[in-house]
Amino acid sequence: MTDGPTDSGTPGVPEHGKKKRAVVEPAPPARAMSIHAHPDDQEFTVGGTLAKWARAGTTIVTVCITRGTGGSNRFTPLDMTREALGPTREAEQRSACRILGISDAWFLDYEDGMLEATIAVRRDLTRLIRRFRPEAVVCGDPTVRYYGSTYLNHPDHRAAADAALDATFPSAGTRLIFPELLAEGLEPHEVRQVYIHGSERADTYVDIAGTMDVKLAALREHRSQMGEWDPKDFLVEWAREQGLRAGLDAAESYRRMVLEGP
Ligand SMILES: [Zn+2]
Repeated sequence: MTDGPTDSGTPGVPEHGKKKRAVVEPAPPARAMSIHAHPDDQEFTVGGTLAKWARAGTTIVTVCITRGTGGSNRFTPLDMTREALGPTREAEQRSACRILGISDAWFLDYEDGMLEATIAVRRDLTRLIRRFRPEAVVCGDPTVRYYGSTYLNHPDHRAAADAALDATFPSAGTRLIFPELLAEGLEPHEVRQVYIHGSERADTYVDIAGTMDVKLAALREHRSQMGEWDPKDFLVEWAREQGLRAGLDAAESYRRMVLEGP
């Protein structure tokens, strides 16, 4: 048997070493909103997908819930302050967005390192979703506490993902949730798809072989966080790992939700 159903793994997705089967990649959405906690989260995780979508004509809005003023111990000079780092990281994120083909980036002023999925964050994200009316929201997976045995998922990442999903549903589409937004002229909007990256239950794979160089260039714009480190080998290996189950050389993987309409 080379091409029939297997009794293990995800239907339609070949196991490594078996015959590769075409994996249907969803068509790019017309409008997408990428929501993350920090400058550089987007470039590490979904930059290849967003660059691919931008080339295909998708209008993309980037939302950073913090300005990343906590930085990282590895690369932040000892005399750096939160006040000085904020504008640098915002400028780096805007440059990275331009490289990916994203013209619109929004920054909310929540504190890096102390983010919680509060009602205030949910309301602010709901406001942006209603304003830009994306077909798809791209965010992380709030349920993942750690990856493998070497990386504890950052609490800001979990909080950002939690708030993004809760803003997507039910807040954005429900008229009487945050009625104060109606007073701002923001009518309900129903998001149709959610692309959740970092999921341990991925079911959707975007081939990023053609935009890997763009992803890398965008990530390198975050100079204050890179130091002398060249992220190329890391990104290539991570994309290879994500592509294995789909028979792709380089991929970004997602749990993709297609939300039911009314
Ligand atoms: Zn981060």
